[in-house]
Amino acid sequence: MAPLDVKHFINGEFVDSSDGKTFDLFSPYSGDLIAKVAEATTEDVDKAVAAAKAAFPEWSSRSPQQRGQHLAKLAQLITAADAELAQADALSLGRPVSTYFDGYYAAMHYRYFSEAAYPVGTSSLNTPGFLNVSLRQPYGVGAAIIPWNSPLVFYSKKMAPALAAGNTFVLKTSEKAPLSPHRLNQMLNEAGFPPGVVNVVHGHGAVSGHAISSHMDIRALSFTGSVRTGRLIQKAAADSNFKHIIFELGGKSPAIVFADADLERAAKETQHSIMWHSGQTCMANSRIYVQKSVAEKFVATFNSLAAARKLGDPTLKETESGPQADKSQFEAVHQYIEEGKKTGQLVEPGTQIPESGAGLFVAPVVFLQQPEDSKIMKEEVFGPVVCINTFETEEEALKIANDTEYGLYAAVYTNDIDRAMRCAKGLESGMVGVNCTSPTAAWDMPFGGYKQSGIGRESFLLSMDDWLEQKAVFIRMGGTEKIGGGNILGR
Ligand code: NAD
Repeated sequence: MAPLDVKHFINGEFVDSSDGKTFDLFSPYSGDLIAKVAEATTEDVDKAVAAAKAAFPEWSSRSPQQRGQHLAKLAQLITAADAELAQADALSLGRPVSTYFDGYYAAMHYRYFSEAAYPVGTSSLNTPGFLNVSLRQPYGVGAAIIPWNSPLVFYSKKMAPALAAGNTFVLKTSEKAPLSPHRLNQMLNEAGFPPGVVNVVHGHGAVSGHAISSHMDIRALSFTGSVRTGRLIQKAAADSNFKHIIFELGGKSPAIVFADADLERAAKETQHSIMWHSGQTCMANSRIYVQKSVAEKFVATFNSLAAARKLGDPTLKETESGPQADKSQFEAVHQYIEEGKKTGQLVEPGTQIPESGAGLFVAPVVFLQQPEDSKIMKEEVFGPVVCINTFETEEEALKIANDTEYGLYAAVYTNDIDRAMRCAKGLESGMVGVNCTSPTAAWDMPFGGYKQSGIGRESFLLSMDDWLEQKAVFIRMGGTEKIGGGNILGR
């Protein structure tokens, strides 16, 4: 098959990069060249932002229904293309079609925000002589920089509320996963979005990502990705215009399993959490703490489940786990495994590795008895690698679970309701699962992290706030002077 030609989408048109450069995208399963992708320059980002800026006055002056009809139409088009989108992500990043939910997730976001965009402010008569109101208004040009592991999840959860709130948008895809976003870009004109309302560029972070983070005309930026990149973006934002920032960053999420828990369930779900998508999820429970008396039984069940995982061609329905997303991911995971071998006990559950052209499969790895301060306990591996340690008391479990700079997701398995509540309160984490673990989440609950796992929260109920400024308007009422009107502090 000839490689796909993937161009930027700027001002309603598919365009090459200003310098004509492209980069090659290879399948992490077969190793075949699957696309030639336009590599955005700073000039391309400037063009995308200029188009968004020009489109803003008209788009923001529309009613929520007028904007919403295009989001609703896009949701329909995404739903109709679900199977095709699943194939695109399987091909480009090795995401198995068997666990693909991203098309559904994206359609849900465009559908929800097509009807939810009625941002309202407040009013107040608490200042004598004044009627005061607060307004919620779009920032202008909003932007997103997204990672590769679930491209359409991030494409939609950032763009849909931003557009609904009246912003226009510039998005940069990940250099590892531009295919499914490209397919959505092809739907934007059919959905009727005016030129410039949505602009999408492809490319690497150092050039186009940096150009977005430091752009003077972008006023709000939502980023999902690693802590390392988040730090660079935060600096670029501060060095340019202090744009409003939303960060969803990495994790080193703990799951605590008490002896009284349903061990089968705990082993099954924690195994799924870390191993699905080959460990490449931000909220995977990569540290598991098991109460000592049941640790042996738990580890045996966990290993037999990991051993039975079916690794293979991600485009086939029967495959449970695909390869790592590319060579650099594969190498990084192997480096961590080598590091882990120096400090703890390596157990290989014995999962079968299939033959593939690219050779980027990593079989699930379980580490036991890792010191709490070892590298593998502290850093995000982003691969099918889990550390299982033991504890004796609840106090000890909470202390070691919280001993991390991350705080995205934590889980606790127990049949003691009081202990479950104490742990839910005590875990330093943006999300806590009780008798469940990640990827369990909810549309209407805040998604985001404590500590270095993020800044801000996203969800159906909260995301609109990420894309709206607040303005206080003080309106003097004439004829009220006799009753003390005119004093803004009300004294
Ligand atoms: P990454 O940080 O390497 O890249 C993310 C995006 O940032 C890409 O589009 C990349 O091109 C861009 N980028 C890179 N350098 C940049 C720079 N200097 N300036 C601006 N942009 C730049 O992350 P990744 O490897 O794509 O994704 C994996 C990471 O994302 C993991 O740490 C994972 O935990 C995290 N993640 C977090 C969440 C969450 O919701 N908290 C969800 C998914 C992934």
